[in-house]
Amino acid sequence: MLLEIKNLHVKYGNVEALHGVNIQVDEGEIVTILGANGAGKSTTLLAISGLVSVTSGQILFRGDALHRMSADKIVRAGITQSPEGRRVFSTLTVRENLNLGAFTANDPGRVRKTLGWIYELFPRLEERREQLAGTLSGGEQQMLAMGRALMANPKILLLDEPSLGLAPILVRTIFDTVREINRSGVTVILVEQNARVALKLAHRGYVMEVGNIVLADSADALLSDADVQNAYLGGK
Ligand code: ATP
Repeated sequence: MLLEIKNLHVKYGNVEALHGVNIQVDEGEIVTILGANGAGKSTTLLAISGLVSVTSGQILFRGDALHRMSADKIVRAGITQSPEGRRVFSTLTVRENLNLGAFTANDPGRVRKTLGWIYELFPRLEERREQLAGTLSGGEQQMLAMGRALMANPKILLLDEPSLGLAPILVRTIFDTVREINRSGVTVILVEQNARVALKLAHRGYVMEVGNIVLADSADALLSDADVQNAYLGGK
């Protein structure tokens, strides 16, 4: 097993947001976490990245305790995140944003190779490499946020709501690229409100409700589950 989250509790101040979350991810999988607003999906990703502190429980990456590591160490260990809302640096160029993603790298040859791969995945980013990120469209900013996260050559890529606010045609482009990234050997954890597209892409899924995992199954089984259909797929 590549990543194991065991009985994870996270609090914001006195309010507990995660009440004992258990998630397991195998190497090579795309695993999606579904759930309504406020269910705790983003908090789960932030805990994996070391950006919120863990109250109790464990997050193990190949057996190493991520919950005791700093955020930069977690990136060095091989886990990067493309955050919700994209959060690119709008006054820097596309190229400069991508370079920031390579802050852990010390082999210039490898960085150049990774950059070439990212430009193959997202030709639009290469076309716009000298453009300020703030002038990109929403879809292009999403590509940039993903590209920046890939610059560190992660083993696990965490994607928080990549389809948010994008036109359906762009959502398809982004999700096709996620599949390609996964095929190249990157394990993906995908948080999505667009449950149907996420389940079509993922191998397995977890459903969260108010800080708990309430369902875990193969993506196909979740797609045909009556409760999931009613709650997250708008009936069928
Ligand atoms: P969304 O899709 O809206 O981001 P989510 O499933 O990702 O939803 P979280 O953002 O993880 O949910 O939120 C889980 C709970 O924690 C919610 O009750 C939310 O209000 C609360 N919460 C999230 N961030 C903070 C914060 N910085 N301070 C206090 N409470 C927070």
